[in-house]
Amino acid sequence: MRILKMKSDFLKEFLMSLEKFGKLYGPKREKGILTYAPIERFEELVLNGENTIIPLKKLFHPKKFIMFHFDDEGFKPDYSMIEKRVILGAHPCEIHGVLRLDDVFLTDPPDPYYSGLRNSTAIIGFSCMPSESALCKSTGTDIVEEGFDLFFVDLDDFFLVWIGSSLGHDMILEREDFFDDKVTHEDIQRYIDWRENRDTLFKHSFNFPAMPDIIELSYDSEVWDYFAEKCLSCGQCTMVCPTCNCYDVNDVFDITTKTSGRRERIWDSCMFVDYSLVAGGHNFRGTRADRLKLWYTHKLKAFANEYGRPSCVGCGRCVDTCPVDINVLTVSEALTRCEVPKQ
Ligand code: SF4
Ligand code: SF4
Repeated sequence: MRILKMKSDFLKEFLMSLEKFGKLYGPKREKGILTYAPIERFEELVLNGENTIIPLKKLFHPKKFIMFHFDDEGFKPDYSMIEKRVILGAHPCEIHGVLRLDDVFLTDPPDPYYSGLRNSTAIIGFSCMPSESALCKSTGTDIVEEGFDLFFVDLDDFFLVWIGSSLGHDMILEREDFFDDKVTHEDIQRYIDWRENRDTLFKHSFNFPAMPDIIELSYDSEVWDYFAEKCLSCGQCTMVCPTCNCYDVNDVFDITTKTSGRRERIWDSCMFVDYSLVAGGHNFRGTRADRLKLWYTHKLKAFANEYGRPSCVGCGRCVDTCPVDINVLTVSEALTRCEVPKQ
């Protein structure tokens, strides 16, 4: 993979020049909340490494959209949300999150809405420093080697820039004068020092590689009942997780014709009580303990069985979000120690 160097002074002009490749999106504050949204001015971009509350998945797997319109004659897919876009400032764990969504939505047959959004979107990654709750060192997702068009590592007065695709290469060609391909040993040493320093800043870790076996051995653990007592079934953990992708579909009829309408897709959560409720009234996961067990088994074990890698990317959002302190760290620690957390 080709690596270039760019002076920090050029960042603003270069990023804003990418507008010709698509509508710019990035982390920005709206009503005080950091969220991925359209970027009009460079000053709106927040590149300080802070996590948005809702991850990048919302731009590829939107929380609600119209799939198609139908009437007596048939149906017509609605792809109106698909447009050329350039996402600025995606952290490594966010890019890993999108790669996990690729595993699900691009597996044959690909989901046309997801693949349409994915194929029309460029990703410009950015390095970050670990947040208070970051777990990406444990999950091996603190660096990324694929899934981006360009990736910028901030070394204060300059950036090292990885080119990850031919589109990324075209972007560089637009402003070739900003880039220098003479990356020196000194520059590489700066990068190595930066990584070593960053590695010391993680506050938490857990034994990620052992989790599939620990989950397998903990099926009847009282740990599940302990967390189930506290869980509110609110589903916030699944909404903020970059790799959760469950959805429901609803047909909304036009009341004037009664035979035409639209089908909508909307995020769902396996933490909701009616998620596994089927016709006849049987609920396959009627207890909170069963639902928690499903989520953690899927994140830390079952997804890897199916796709070759676990679906937790260590972003720490479940740590920041769950109102009763149930998250990948507290659950993993309790299962590993075979004891419930001390009050
Ligand atoms: S684990 Fe926490 S965030 Fe998730 S459903 Fe239960 S209470 Fe809500
Ligand atoms: S399980 Fe938690 S830490 Fe892991 S990816 Fe999901 S929200 Fe992030």
